[in-house]
Amino acid sequence: MSSDPTAPRGTLFIVSAPSGAGKTSLVRALLEQIPGLELSVSSTTRPPRPGERDGVDYHFLDEARFLERIESGRFLEYARVFDNLYGTSQDAVEARLDAGADVILEIDWQGAQQVRRVLPEAVSVFILPPSREELHRRLSERGQDSAEVIERRLAEAVDEMAHFSEYDYLVINDDFTRALGELGTLIGAQRLACRRQQCLHADRLAELLAR
Ligand code: 5GP
Repeated sequence: MSSDPTAPRGTLFIVSAPSGAGKTSLVRALLEQIPGLELSVSSTTRPPRPGERDGVDYHFLDEARFLERIESGRFLEYARVFDNLYGTSQDAVEARLDAGADVILEIDWQGAQQVRRVLPEAVSVFILPPSREELHRRLSERGQDSAEVIERRLAEAVDEMAHFSEYDYLVINDDFTRALGELGTLIGAQRLACRRQQCLHADRLAELLAR
């Protein structure tokens, strides 16, 4: 999207979920459906997984470069999640919001807390799986992991889910299509906010209200 100086500033959406909730697939489908919605590409010290591309899935950095960026204040938020560092570039996000894009941050609860402090107007949504049993099933089906690894993932998921009430909205991913519809509704509603409509329809409003 190119920069439009008259566009109202976009909305920042924070999306968090435990692994196994289906967050990544939901966000991917949303991005395909909704024009003007963009995903912020995070930086991480985690090594790329097969198929992941630098600059597309993440900006892959070594720990020294990541720490340098923390030092120079380049992150809107950053956190250690499991064994790796993850962070959101402040400049990149601000530039896209200023250009009128709605931006999604797929980040964990620690990052969400930091973003709320800096940008309280951000809209946050937490995605939950439908049940403990289903979460266990989704975490187990990813490969031939040991029972111990699966139990650890489940415990990490429960730690993440314990923060759901800090969010503005809660979506349960029981049925993918319904959850996708709910997220779309949420984004659509923010686009109808008065401050935004006022900016987009300034001429129309002036004409309507002329005495
Ligand atoms: P993964 O390594 O599986 O891609 O992501 C692991 C976790 O890191 C997920 O919960 C994801 O939401 C979180 N994460 C990804 N990028 C960021 C980021 O920029 N900041 C924070 N705080 N968490 C992130």
